[in-house]
Amino acid sequence: MFDVFCTECSRRQLVFAGQVLGIRNDETGIHVVFRCSRGHVGVWDTGRRAAEAAAAHPVAA
Ligand SMILES: [Zn+2]
Repeated sequence: MFDVFCTECSRRQLVFAGQVLGIRNDETGIHVVFRCSRGHVGVWDTGRRAAEAAAAHPVAA
């Protein structure tokens, strides 16, 4: 179970293992492709490398 942010729903929500469509682990971090409870497909970027990339290129909130 993951706590992710769906950009289509504009809110955080829980995603269960059955909603995970795929996982990619590369030099930019771990990218979990999920389908939210309302059917949107999103990507959750996690892992140390994703955190480092986010810190290096912060997005204005
Ligand atoms: Zn959604």
